[in-house]
Amino acid sequence: MKSYKIALIPGDGIGTEVLACSWSVLTEASERFGFRLESQTFPWSCDYYLQNGRMMPDDGIEQLRAFDSIYLGAVGWPARVPDSVSLHGLLLPIRKAFDLYVNSRPHRLLDGVEGPLRAGSFDILCIRENTEGEYSGAGGRVHMATPNEVAVETSVFTRRGVERIIRYGFEMARTRKRRLASVTKSNAQKYSMVFWDEVTDTLAAEYPDVEVTRYHVDAIAARFVTHPQTLDVVVASNLFGDILTDIGAAIQGGLGFAASANLNPEGGVPSMFEPVHGSAPDIAGRGIANPLATIWAGALMLEHLGEASAAQAIVKSIEDVTRQRLVRTPDLGGQATTEEVAQAVIAAL
Ligand code: ATP
Ligand code: MG
Repeated sequence: MKSYKIALIPGDGIGTEVLACSWSVLTEASERFGFRLESQTFPWSCDYYLQNGRMMPDDGIEQLRAFDSIYLGAVGWPARVPDSVSLHGLLLPIRKAFDLYVNSRPHRLLDGVEGPLRAGSFDILCIRENTEGEYSGAGGRVHMATPNEVAVETSVFTRRGVERIIRYGFEMARTRKRRLASVTKSNAQKYSMVFWDEVTDTLAAEYPDVEVTRYHVDAIAARFVTHPQTLDVVVASNLFGDILTDIGAAIQGGLGFAASANLNPEGGVPSMFEPVHGSAPDIAGRGIANPLATIWAGALMLEHLGEASAAQAIVKSIEDVTRQRLVRTPDLGGQATTEEVAQAVIAAL
């Protein structure tokens, strides 16, 4: 029997609540589909930081390296630990150490969920570059606090970085409708985004079966709202992907559904799977957080591990639950608990 080693990082607030319930869905799926999930839980969180002065031990990355995947709830509790500390002490080091350069987010409006749009169908896979671009951190400020002050933030786009993310976009397009949207702002940004377009065109020659369209980010943002059915896989830089995935999450019904995979497609290191939402201190501890985003992230994890049938069954079960509109957490207008929703998904399985 195949067996996978999963590192669980519940984190803070509702992260701990949604991860525990979601894990029970995954273990149920593993029994149904004939594979084994072994887990070890790491208590790295803001509580851990307040006790130990760091978000994880010095050898934390080395401890994680032995696992097939990392499954994370949510990390951060701004009232007690600044986000800069929690982010830079845990999530960013993991992303960096394992070179998780793909941030993949499926945005699909499930049956029974009311999104803000009238358009019924919404099914887009956003591929965001996760390591460089506008968030490279290069830049500086001169003449600080004077009228002549200048702040410069430099985007860094490397051929290796751009090629590998666009190539991943093409590969994903091949698994779906063979339609790729490449996002730039090359009419206004004449170096980096022109470069991105060139790389897109070069790779397009290798994927003659995929229809590629270049969009400017402002135009595609509007298209998400007006003609989403014309989009399938969308590949974008770090900043543009960040913004577009927030639009995507909103249209699919909000944070309760938005799942995220931080991937190194070449493998050999653990990839990381998490809901997009944070620790939600306002509702933490009450057992009413919506676990569907985390369960969906778990499905992405199983898919990445090669358990596609189990992954599909979980997503289908999530949709069975939303379609029936019976068991819903308060964010969706219901009164069910986190646990009850997870149990409903297990029953649908
Ligand atoms: P972060 O800085 O970590 O992104 P945030 O400040 O954006 O966090 P979240 O923790 O994502 O905030 O929460 C934003 C709002 O959405 C809060 O009101 C929260 O209660 C709600 N929310 C987030 N996730 C869920 C969930 N799974 N179920 C129900 N409500 C949620
Ligand atoms: Mg946020």
